[in-house]
Formats: sequence, structure tokens, C-alpha cells
Amino acid sequence: MPDVSGLRSLKGISERRAALLQKLGVESLTDLYFFYPRLYEDWSKISEPEELSDGEPGVFKATVARDATVNRYGRKSTIRAQLKAGSLTIRAVWFNQPWLSETLKAGTTFLFRGQIEKKGTQLQIMSPQFVKEGQDLPPLLPIYRMTAGLTQKIVRDAISQALNLGHLIPQEFLPKSLRLKHRMAERRFAFQSIHFPADKHALSLSLNRFKYEELFLAKLALSVMAKRRELDALAPTLKNTDEAREALAAWLSTLPYTLTSTQKRSLDEIVGGISKPTPMHRLLQGDVGSGKTVVAAGGILFAAKASGQSAFLAPTAVLARQHYETLQRLFDGTGLTLALLTGQMPAAKRRAVLEGLSDGSIDVAVGTHALLEPDVQFKNLAFAITDEQHRFGVLQRQRLLKEDEKRRPHLLVMSATPIPRTLALIVYGDLDVSVIEGVPPGRPEIKTYTARSADRQRVEGIIEKTAARGEQIYVVCPLIEQSAAIDLQAVTDVYMHLKTRFPNLEVGLLHGSLKAKEKDQVMERFISGKTAILVSTTVIEVGIDHPNATLMVIENAERFGLAQLHQLRGRVGRGHLPGLCILMSDTNVQASRKRLVTLCKNRDGFRLAEADLEQRGPGDFFGTRQHGLPEFRLVNLYEEKHLIDEVAEDVEAILAADPLLSGPEHRLLLPAIGERFGEQFMNLVL
Ligand code: ADP
Ligand code: MG
Repeated sequence: MPDVSGLRSLKGISERRAALLQKLGVESLTDLYFFYPRLYEDWSKISEPEELSDGEPGVFKATVARDATVNRYGRKSTIRAQLKAGSLTIRAVWFNQPWLSETLKAGTTFLFRGQIEKKGTQLQIMSPQFVKEGQDLPPLLPIYRMTAGLTQKIVRDAISQALNLGHLIPQEFLPKSLRLKHRMAERRFAFQSIHFPADKHALSLSLNRFKYEELFLAKLALSVMAKRRELDALAPTLKNTDEAREALAAWLSTLPYTLTSTQKRSLDEIVGGISKPTPMHRLLQGDVGSGKTVVAAGGILFAAKASGQSAFLAPTAVLARQHYETLQRLFDGTGLTLALLTGQMPAAKRRAVLEGLSDGSIDVAVGTHALLEPDVQFKNLAFAITDEQHRFGVLQRQRLLKEDEKRRPHLLVMSATPIPRTLALIVYGDLDVSVIEGVPPGRPEIKTYTARSADRQRVEGIIEKTAARGEQIYVVCPLIEQSAAIDLQAVTDVYMHLKTRFPNLEVGLLHGSLKAKEKDQVMERFISGKTAILVSTTVIEVGIDHPNATLMVIENAERFGLAQLHQLRGRVGRGHLPGLCILMSDTNVQASRKRLVTLCKNRDGFRLAEADLEQRGPGDFFGTRQHGLPEFRLVNLYEEKHLIDEVAEDVEAILAADPLLSGPEHRLLLPAIGERFGEQFMNLVL
């Protein structure tokens, strides 16, 4: 439960405003302290307007010459005012803020901040910020992320009050020796100065402090978890691993293709991990279509030949069935016994599977959450695999792991969301990472184009032709609002439109509010080929492999991240038929168009992930924290390589000297991890 009571105790924070703050991720006083400004405006230096006409933003003093005028057209409006500064006249314009005219009255003097432009002989300024002259302003005015209904002033006042509650400011936890070593600001000073810096020096001191802190806590948390795993756990024992290795080599030679070099390397790493007495925690990363399944299958076969069972977890019944069928094909002739376990199984069948798992006659169980039910007992579960870990709750994974107190199966998490290798290693720290690079040779082409609403008729023509060839179409709509009802409305509109437009085709609708069973039914109809066009809000069943779908239309494409778009695109062009992906977007925002063009030109997910990180920063890239990665607010992992190394060194030294963090200098470290990550801390555990 968010602890909004602290926030509500601040003057000016009503219940409604507390709710708005919550939208910004601020749910408690502690969150408020950590709600760092987005940028700072320098109001300390007042310039003559003449000095400002070279395009640099600055602050100047001016008087409103005549009452501001408002022109309204529909819901939009323009506000104009003439400003007098000495002998100069400056035209000022604002958009869609009609209420400003109340303040901009003739004869009033303000400090304005903005960029003065020369327009012919005229001076002009667009949307300058302004404050009453003489108002007490901090020298570097903090500007915060905003949401409609709040103002900078409300947030600023709330933070200022919070900072005055001295005893509640999160206290210092860094060992003094470290602070001295890096000449780092003390935490209270840093909180004060990151919100209301006295000058640029104080600001840079506190920024450095919090950057270090951010990385330090993330790294420490991850390292502590890794250490605990090592200390606590014992892996299941495997027998005859040499023979198992031979069996694996023999099986590989029966595959219709040879593994790529990075598939081979990943499989070697997995087999090496499974052979060790401590449980493996490994992330297997590979772009969409890179062939992760066969690599995981190699691990399963090895485990089975060494008398260990495997569990393969999938987020939905449809995906579970797909993996089950794939594995059955792959293990044909190996003598391995497989079973599928999903929620919708007849009781008798389920009982038979449970029996097979507990007496060891089943080597591999593929299934959904149903695999995590308490009555599912394995004889010797050695290897657990999850596809797309973010769809699985941490607790659920732990249930599988904890089924036997001391022994824990080796764990492999497969992810198609490409994190650049360097970044993964840095952030995951001691977690092992295997990476499959590229995709196997000989894949069909996927063309990617952008289109605007004006092109809709042509796009619908392409949909029609695709369906006429007997191929299928995905239409994906982004989640736009926080509100499920509004999203549902948006996707339903698209669905209804397509239904009317193509009365002879079956159109399916998949969205977040459907029950799991209903989703499965919609997916089934699509996979069986009955549904021609599938309209969906959610990322279509991440990992679904349906080669007959060849066209992907993405609505409001600018609302997706590059990595997400790439994943969506990966749903087509999977068989021998070439794929086509159309990115619908009317945006004129340059950065957004640039991203879409990047995607059109690029098919390599890792390259795209790097581009995305460079363009948007890791915070946005990881979006909903799909990877359980800690959120970095200040640190750009791309730019702070040096700091990352420094922090890693410090953390290692501390843990080497005091593994339990119980020494007097280290006693506050674990609580600080809790304060920073809260429940998220659990999510850091893989
Ligand atoms: P993903 O990594 O997205 O899960 P899959 O495991 O579904 O990818 O593999 C995609 C396709 O590539 C499958 O049809 C698989 O049989 C095929 N494949 C895997 N490895 C190779 C390879 N080395 N050469 C050719 N095809 C391969
Ligand atoms: Mg897959």
C-alpha cells in the first residue's frame, strides 16, 4: 500500500493532489525526496534583452504594455502581449493557456525567461515563463516532471516543506571512508542541494553523490542476492554427465541444421552450469527468431540423460502448447517423455501427469502457472526454464525453486528483449548471461514501412490482398491511457472499423480485459486459421510462432519503444514467407519519426536496443521494468562506464571485507537497499 499519509500532511497536498503525485510515481514522503528535478532554470542572472537576441535563453525584466489579448478557436487559443524593456518592444505569444491573460495586465512588471528571436525588425518571444519581480526565487529553479492538475509551484512547495522536516529526510548510509575517498557530499546536504541548489557547484556535488548512490545500491543489492544464492543453495545431483554429454552431441547431429556459433557457445555455457553443484541462474538472450528454444532443448536433453527432470514454463496456455509441440518434434527418437500441464486439463489427465512427475517417468513438463501448484511434485527437478521472464511473478518462480528447501533447480530465463551485452553484464552483475548473436542464416525478408492516416486506404488494400492469399494479419494498438476502459474503447473502434470494412473476413479482438481462457480461445481461432485479422492491444503473446501471419500493422506506432516495435515485427516473416510491417503514425515529432525510420532501416534487435538506449536512455527503454532491472533516474549507463567500474570495485571490497554487512560502518547498507527498492528488491532476484 502506498503510504500517502506523509504526503497528505504537507500543506497544499489534498487527496486529489496526492493522487496526482502518485501518477508521477510519488507515493510517500521518501519518494518525494527522491523525486529529482528534470532540469534547472537559472533565474539568477538578469540580462538586458539586447544581449539575448543571439538565440540563447535568458532572463530579462519587462513591463506589460497593454492588457494581453486572447484569441480562441475551438479548444485552442493564442495569448499575445506587448512587453516593454527600456526602449525595446518585444512581442510575446503563448498557446492554449488563456488564464495567463488574468496576470498579464498593463503596467505589471515581470521577470521573463526564454529565447528572444528577431523577426524582421521585430523582437519576439514564444511561451516565455515569467514570475513577478521581487518574488523570492531559488537561483537554480528546479523543474519537475509534471502531470495535468499539478504545477511546478505545488511540487516545489511540497518538496520544500518535506526538506524542512529534517528528521524524516532519508539518512546517510554510505560508509564515511567511501565518502571521503570520493569526496562525496553528505546525504542530507545532497537532498537539499539537488532540489534547491545554492549554486552550480552545490548542484554538481549532489548530482555526483546521487549518481554514485544509485549505482552503488543497485550493484550492492544484486551482489548480495548473488552471494546469498551461493551460500544457501545446492543444485540437484546429476549422474553420468559424461554420457549425457555424448548423448547431447549425438542428438545435435540429428538436427536438420547446425547450430550457429553463438548458439553452440550458449549451449556449452548452459551445460557447464547445469553440471555444477551450485544452482545456475542464467539469462539466455537472443533476438526474436534467433533460435533460443533449441538451445534450451539441448540443456533439457542433457539434464534428462543425467537423470534430471526439466520444467518449461510459459506465460499462456497457447504458448505452452506451442513449446510442447516444438519440444516433442525436437526430441522425437530420443526416448524422452514429455507432458503438457495447463489449467484447463481434465482431472484424470492431470492426475496422470502429476504421477509421472513425482515418480520420475516424465522427463520434461511444459506448462503454465499450473506447474506451480503446490501439489505438483517432481522426483528430481534439475532444470527450470522460463520464456520471457517478465510474465512470471517472482514469487511464482520461487515456489518452483523452494519446493525442496535446500536443493534448487538450475534456472534459465530466456529473453528476446535485447539488452546490449555490456549493459546486461554491468547491471545483472553476477548473474550469468549467454547471448545468441544474430539469427540463423536464410531467413525471409521483413520489410518495414511507415504510413500516415492519409494512406489508410492503401494499407487496407494490402490487408485485403494478404488475406486473399490466405495469409493472416495482426493489427496492434498501443495502450494509450492509464484507464483500461479508454484503451478498450480505442481498440474496439479499430476492430469495429475493420469488421465493417471487411465483412467477408473474420476479425478477432484480443485485449487486456479478457479472461485467460477467452484470450486462449481468440488465439486458438487465429492459429487455426479461422480468424484472418487479429486486432490486439497487448503485445501479441510474446513469442508466438505462427508463420502464416505475414502482415503486421501497428497503430500509433510512435507510442511504442523501439525494442517493443521490433518484437512485434518479429511475429511476421517467421516461416518461408516474407513479412511486412507497417508502422502507422501521424506524429511530426522529429525524435519519434527518427525512431520509426531507424526501425525501418534496421533488423538487428541488438543494434536497435543500442539505438534506443542512446535516444531515450535506459529508464524509458526498460519501460515497465520488464527485466526486474532497477530503475536508474540519474545515471546513464552508457555514459558512466567509469563510475560503474568504480562502484563495482567499492562493492566488491566491502563484501570481501564484511560479507554479512554487519560491521558498524556497513550496518545501514541493507536498510538503504530496502528504502531504495522496497518490494522491487525481490524483483531483483532471478
Ligand atoms: P526464438 O529465439 O525467437 O525463440 P525460435 O527458437 O522459435 O526463436 O527459433 C526460430 C526458428 O529458427 C525455429 O523454427 C527454429 O527451428 C529455427 N532455428 C533455430 N536454430 C537454427 C539454426 N541454427 N539454423 C536454422 N534454423 C534454426
Ligand atoms: Mg521463443
